[in-house]
Amino acid sequence: MDSEEFRQRGREMVDYIIEYMETLGERRVTPSIEPGYLRELIPKNAPNKGEKWKEIMSDVETKIMPGVAHWQHPRFHAYFPSGNSFPSILGDMLSDGIGAIGFSWAASPACTELETIVLDWLGQMIGLPQEFLSFSDGNSKGGGVMQSSASECVLVSLLAARAQKIKELKVVHPFTEDGVLLSKLVAYCSREAHSCVEKAAMIAFTKLRILEADEDLSLRGATLAKAIEEDRALGLVPFFVSATLGTTSCVSFDNLAEIGPVAKEAGAWLHVDAAYAGNAFICPEFKYLMEGIEYATSFNTNPNKWLLTNFDCSTMWVKDRFKLTQAMVVDPLYLQHSHSDKAIDYRHWGIPLSRRFRALKLWFVIRNYGVEGLQNYIRQHCRLAKRFELLVKADERFEVCNNVRMGLVCFRVKGEDQLNRKLLSKINASGKLHMVPACIHGRFVIRFCVCAQDAKDSDIEYAWKVISDFATELLDDESVDEKSQIKLTNEEANDEEFVQHVGNLEISELIDLMEKVQFPMQKNHSKPAMSRHPLTFQVLAQCKTTKAKCSLMTLPHHVVETPVFMPVGTQGSLKGIIPEQLEQLNCQIMLGNTYHLGNRPGPDLLESCGGLHNFMGWPRNLLTDSGGFQMVSLLDLAEITEEGVKFKSPYDGSECLLTPERSIEIQNAIGADIIMQLDDVVSSTVSGPRVEEAMHRTTRWLDRCLKAHKRPESQNLFPIVQGGLDPKLRTESAKQLMEREVAGFAVGGLSGGEGKDQFWRMVHLSTDLLPNDKPRYLMGVGFATDLVVCCALGCDMFDCVFPTRTARFGCALVDSGQLNLKLKLFGQDFRPIDEKCDCSTCRRYTRAYLHTVATIETVACNLITVHNVAYQLRLMRNIRESIMNGTFVEFIFNFMDTMYPKKDFPVWATDALRAVNVDLIDRTKEQNPDS
Ligand SMILES: *Cc1c(COP(=O)(O)O)cnc(C)c1O
Repeated sequence: MDSEEFRQRGREMVDYIIEYMETLGERRVTPSIEPGYLRELIPKNAPNKGEKWKEIMSDVETKIMPGVAHWQHPRFHAYFPSGNSFPSILGDMLSDGIGAIGFSWAASPACTELETIVLDWLGQMIGLPQEFLSFSDGNSKGGGVMQSSASECVLVSLLAARAQKIKELKVVHPFTEDGVLLSKLVAYCSREAHSCVEKAAMIAFTKLRILEADEDLSLRGATLAKAIEEDRALGLVPFFVSATLGTTSCVSFDNLAEIGPVAKEAGAWLHVDAAYAGNAFICPEFKYLMEGIEYATSFNTNPNKWLLTNFDCSTMWVKDRFKLTQAMVVDPLYLQHSHSDKAIDYRHWGIPLSRRFRALKLWFVIRNYGVEGLQNYIRQHCRLAKRFELLVKADERFEVCNNVRMGLVCFRVKGEDQLNRKLLSKINASGKLHMVPACIHGRFVIRFCVCAQDAKDSDIEYAWKVISDFATELLDDESVDEKSQIKLTNEEANDEEFVQHVGNLEISELIDLMEKVQFPMQKNHSKPAMSRHPLTFQVLAQCKTTKAKCSLMTLPHHVVETPVFMPVGTQGSLKGIIPEQLEQLNCQIMLGNTYHLGNRPGPDLLESCGGLHNFMGWPRNLLTDSGGFQMVSLLDLAEITEEGVKFKSPYDGSECLLTPERSIEIQNAIGADIIMQLDDVVSSTVSGPRVEEAMHRTTRWLDRCLKAHKRPESQNLFPIVQGGLDPKLRTESAKQLMEREVAGFAVGGLSGGEGKDQFWRMVHLSTDLLPNDKPRYLMGVGFATDLVVCCALGCDMFDCVFPTRTARFGCALVDSGQLNLKLKLFGQDFRPIDEKCDCSTCRRYTRAYLHTVATIETVACNLITVHNVAYQLRLMRNIRESIMNGTFVEFIFNFMDTMYPKKDFPVWATDALRAVNVDLIDRTKEQNPDS
């Protein structure tokens, strides 16, 4: 093949790969063939003369593809994901083109140096202690390396630990044979560890003690300590402990914080195998699972599992690279080079001499996705697994058998193993889905892993439909043919009388009965109380001084980091910005107006196209208001009765009535992830008995809304705290609403022209009353100062039309307030709106240009809106990061000083912050009441 032909065939191959990926869903996920199928299709001998490319490729489709299991198939839910992405494929292509073998620095310097740098990047992203990184300081002993598999990482670590321990023993017993010393060494892992640990110990000829995990399938410190003590009494020498973060069977986590000190005391090398779950540690919300990592001697994770990088790419870090290389160095002359002492020679870090240029693909992936893009990918998988878990839990024939924290759900049909075996083999044989089993607590479970690169909600729904349909069919068959054979294998059900009794039952009765049996595993594994709502709220960090906190709210269409600002869209579109741009800005949730959407396009049309997400092409979360506020604010003619809000349609002048039921009906059709109750809104400047009436009516309307709500499994209904500016009424309102079973709360009736002093007091009071473990949504707030103060007061969610509306008038938001780009002074200003902003507008356009087009050209509206939304989202991100880092108070000071350089802070803000222990005026004052 010459270059010209390669150019053509290369292009064809790219087209073939794209075609393959795009039409993958149409193929069977696993092949339907017998072993040896290929033997009949391919000649016995290699061809003597070269063949035409076309003939070779045509055999790919007819002979190879029929025998391929499609790991990238949307219905593939077996094992773990097999990383794959276009930038990664391109990286491997380039590596093949370069075709270098980088065993030493001199053999291909970039190959070595990029590997070191990328491993430092990834190590930092994961949050490994500094000692694991090679550039952490001038003379770090640590560093990372790529191996071809996790099994190899474990083997290499075990070999290094073995060499290290023998060396230590030699000092004390200089005349004892190595073989005798070797016979004393013992390694440890849990029963849940990957089989590669056993394999490594076998290869290394060392003893391995496999320890029992606790009921959560986590290896505990005390178990290890006891085993070590026993072994030492027998004269054995502990030298290696392999702990697992994210076990292969069910993604359980060994207790590193307990194991670490025990291993350290015993003088054993602690290896941490996090082949799958380690990738998730790039998200702050999962880092807690790494607690105790500082005790590790080495750590590995596989980006080729869960970080969009193609096999092979297994990354490993050691605290002391010399301990690793000492076990592997043999240095013939032809491999030595003049920089040997300065440069890393990766051939000493593992078993093979030759190595591919693997760092390229990981580098491409990290740069092309960015940390944020990779975090989104991980979070999407975790969210979809949670979604699947909810579907399983909602079906009482099934049970979930693991603590679902990442992308894996282990489940089974309640009943005996045989039933589950049958179910799985029927599903796999159908070619509709592919899953594999595991054994948890001695029972057969089915593993469902979210694998596809761009896995979607619809894939999860499809998978569940296939599984539950097969289960229905199977359970029906069983009840006809074999009902007398079904027995419970559960220990608690071993009660003979019970089993005998079971023999004569109909299957439905049996299932009822099994429901009543205590399943010990189930009890232990559902520890984090699963919310009954399609919303989970996990507090990640709580400010020590103020009421601010940083949390992760998981909704059906995306995870949301809070505190969050939600931009407001009207007719299902945000004015002046398109959904793609919002997604690029990492907006995780936006608002839609029920009132406008209810009129146009109308609930019927929305219902028929599967809701607003589909209709507007917005794959992330939506929140809709009840529509009531619009009427009161837009229409003079609105009249409120117990039944609902009566008004004249501004569209055709007809009389309409918006009842709580109608509001929910429309919101159910729209399909937003969070929907709001219809509340009785009174202007915040009104006082007297009308406020009390509205407060009580709001509770009554909440009950009607809850009753009318048709989709509680996919939409969260939030109540709204009312009560005007009267602390007593607000307290009563919050109390009434909290008696209802809801996933979160809104604080309403503020931001409507009341004094700011009354505003903050009502917010402060409301957040004191509402629970801290559910999201609190402050409606209609969006000025930067208000956002910062109200975060300090403990609010988690905000919305406001202001940032997008002001953009349409030519005003851009910056840290010091607003720039009115219409002003003449910007006509010659060639800076971007904000030098620190990385939005697409600031990267490309000057103030002078925007000055020229603002309010005249529609494109200006888009450009400034993009910036303003970016500003709001960045402000919230900075708030979140400072809360996470414990520097929120400092953040407030910096923010206020930039916004009010003359220190003319608004009095209300000063008072509000003082109420949460932050004194803007006297900063020497103790800011932390806890310490
Ligand atoms: C997948 C897995 C392994 C094996 O990975 P390879 O790279 O195929 O060797 C080892 N340990 C754990 C925890 C795994 O999940």
